[in-house]
Amino acid sequence: MKNHHRLLLSLVLGACAGLICHGYADSEALQIFNRYLMEPIGQIFLRLIFMIVVPMVMSGLMLGVYQLSNHHGLARVAQRTLFFTLLASSASVAVGISLVNLAQPGVGLDISQMLGDSSGVNKIQQNVAQAKPVVQSLLEIIPKNPFASATQALEGEMLSLMFFSLAFGAALAATNGGKPSRWVELLEETYAACLLVVDTAMKLAPIAVFALVFQSTFKFGHHILFSLGFYVLVVVTGLLVQQAVVYSMLLRFFTRIKPLNFFRQCRDVYLYAFATASSNATLPRSLELAEQDLKLRPEVARFVLTIGSTANQNGTALFEGITVLFLAQVYGVDLSLAQQVQVVLMSILAGIGTAGVPGGSLPLIMILTQQVGIPPEGMGLILGVDRFLDMCRTTLNVSGDLVIAALVDEPEPERA
Ligand code: ASP
Repeated sequence: MKNHHRLLLSLVLGACAGLICHGYADSEALQIFNRYLMEPIGQIFLRLIFMIVVPMVMSGLMLGVYQLSNHHGLARVAQRTLFFTLLASSASVAVGISLVNLAQPGVGLDISQMLGDSSGVNKIQQNVAQAKPVVQSLLEIIPKNPFASATQALEGEMLSLMFFSLAFGAALAATNGGKPSRWVELLEETYAACLLVVDTAMKLAPIAVFALVFQSTFKFGHHILFSLGFYVLVVVTGLLVQQAVVYSMLLRFFTRIKPLNFFRQCRDVYLYAFATASSNATLPRSLELAEQDLKLRPEVARFVLTIGSTANQNGTALFEGITVLFLAQVYGVDLSLAQQVQVVLMSILAGIGTAGVPGGSLPLIMILTQQVGIPPEGMGLILGVDRFLDMCRTTLNVSGDLVIAALVDEPEPERA
């Protein structure tokens, strides 16, 4: 059985077990079982992922920006790629955040009452009380001391660590002048090792999902599952809006390409991305399509698609924005304006720093939720349906890369 099938099975089993036990939630034996067995099992998995987040985010972002900036021969192409990447990512986060605020899939569960005093609610309330004014929060994105940001990353300093990584990656490209650098090799190896740790932790995920979903349904009953179904619907709708509206508008506005024809030509690649849930694994197919069928200039297609498979993940950015706000709604975390701005910025950056592999965005989503004070067991719910959402968001990630390649290619008059 494949890992994602196991995850789905664990979600179903964990949910059934939790729902049955929810009827006997007052039983002391069940509470002990939950506290001393289910909670630690879930924690082991979550901690393994948390452990790897700082090196992974730093090396991922440094490499992403380094690659985007370090192409002097292709300076114009690189600038346009950066511009369209930021435009498409920002649009996708805007779509996601608007939808989740409109649909409010997580509202309606009065979880604070269900949780009682011993829960994360106190932490959530503290978090809200500590919310800072927007200007102060924006200023603090620039860290005084990046080492302090790294040690405090999980306690609210993630954005400043991301800022430092972006600045350092750009500076590395500028000083290095395109020559091979040992720093870059080191970063590449660090990133590869981080991916391996995540991959290993994912092997434990089926057990962890059972434990985490059990905890949630044990505490909250079946209402949480309805919200989860609604959440999946909102993510899929957001992805469709980005594809059908935003990409069509970008193509119409910046090129002479007819969006429908373009999407039709890309169908096979979409299917491949959907099936593999990996932008990296889809890259060879996208390159072939871009050069042979879409007739984009090879140097543009290679540059944009190769970098885009890691640094342009619009579907992931949209998904992250929706997921954080959904979980905030579920757990009754009232996000201040500054925190919402933080979620938007981090989701955009997450689109740049996420690996193009199945589940590549999970470490970042954990950080984002932690950052705004959402209890970690919320991740269990998400993990159970993540494979399906991963397939959907990867399709949009790859579609976004192809659209940007077409946009960047446009000014050349000789294109067929
Ligand atoms: N699986 C996605 C991709 O390859 C990344 C993610 O969002 O997990 O593009």
